[in-house]
Amino acid sequence: MRQRGAPVVTYDYQKAFASAVSAVRAEGRYRVFADIERQRGRFPRAIYHGGDKPKEITVWCSNDYLGMGQHECVIAAIKNAADRVGAGAGGTRNIAGTTHYHVLLERELAGLHKKEAALLFTSGYVANEATLATLSKILPDSVILSDELNHASMIEGIRGGRGAKLVWRHNDVAHLESLLKEIPPGRPKVIAFESVYSMDGDISPIGAICDLAEKYGAFTYLDEVHAVGLYGAEGGGVAQRDGVETRIDLIEGTLGKAFGVMGGYIAASAAVIDAVRSYASGFIFTTALSPVLVAGALRSVKILRTSNNLRERHQERAATLKARLAAEGLPVMPSVSHIVPVRVGDPVQCKAVSDYLLDRRSIYVQPINYPTVPKGTERLRLTPTPLHTDNDMDELVDALNEAWDALRIGRGAAPAVLAKAEAALP
Ligand SMILES: *Cc1c(COP(=O)(O)O)cnc(C)c1O
Repeated sequence: MRQRGAPVVTYDYQKAFASAVSAVRAEGRYRVFADIERQRGRFPRAIYHGGDKPKEITVWCSNDYLGMGQHECVIAAIKNAADRVGAGAGGTRNIAGTTHYHVLLERELAGLHKKEAALLFTSGYVANEATLATLSKILPDSVILSDELNHASMIEGIRGGRGAKLVWRHNDVAHLESLLKEIPPGRPKVIAFESVYSMDGDISPIGAICDLAEKYGAFTYLDEVHAVGLYGAEGGGVAQRDGVETRIDLIEGTLGKAFGVMGGYIAASAAVIDAVRSYASGFIFTTALSPVLVAGALRSVKILRTSNNLRERHQERAATLKARLAAEGLPVMPSVSHIVPVRVGDPVQCKAVSDYLLDRRSIYVQPINYPTVPKGTERLRLTPTPLHTDNDMDELVDALNEAWDALRIGRGAAPAVLAKAEAALP
């Protein structure tokens, strides 16, 4: 029993939180969220609420890569679903939350990826985290071989599975093989990797990784989050583009980026899907996605399966922007995808350039700092979409030039980058 009148020493919780944030601030990587209001039908225009008064800006960093989040048909599907069934799913998938829209979308996604089945999650993050943890638990004494640049959600899933993990050097198939060789043939092995790495815009050698998986009897887990809707004849991703999707055991994707809505999923054999459905905590114990969102995503997937127009225009826009930046001597990094990273190399300058663009030129590009990218490689990550016009590009290039001069940031794209960017122009 505490004696009456004795001083009580308690822990100062608020101070602990504040000092954790101070550490982030001291490194110049404190995150400020931009308060924006998207304008339906006017993407990439939006209203910025963070200044003295609201103003119109042009967004250059959205992952709504094709503008599907504002596609008339997607919005119509969402409205229609809300009118028919209301707002929420009303339960977990097991307890009253499996709506007919969920069933239809899972069927559609299985078809998109040429797999037997698919399973929806509340986000791509949850899909990775829940599935990788479950694979480790189901496959006894398994080893997960993880690319060193894999997304945080994959790393968390692997950690949560508490199984053995080996990290291979980014996209280095020789290193991957040297690790595979050391593992006894009978031991389960999962190769976990991405197709498009979203911060550098490079693409993995999926076919070569499948060769190794077949040679050493490994299971392949591919995150196509930044590729679904964007690559392949039906928007099935880079594996589809490269003609290797049937060699991949499990494809993971999101409905929140190119498909413009929200949610995540996996597609695989019926046996894999049934097992994850039955064991994954992050799937079982959470309310199902709203049927309204599922209906919108279903429409979006269907549209992108049957038309290449947006995909072609998207690639053209990205190639054009890369060539223009390189021609100006702005340090565009060597991306082979739709992502256009421009190196700044310092967190404080990176934030300064972003502030400059927003305040003076009404252009919104979020600074990308550590831990999202390694220290010293801080960058702007531009995501041109089919809805960015030549005029928007003129404005952007001019504003970047101005900011680079005003803030005295280093220039000079390597000549190889310039040549590559020009070669990629259609
Ligand atoms: C964004 C992202 C995810 C998560 O997807 P969400 O649907 O946004 O949760 C997973 N993997 C990668 C590589 C990502 O960039």
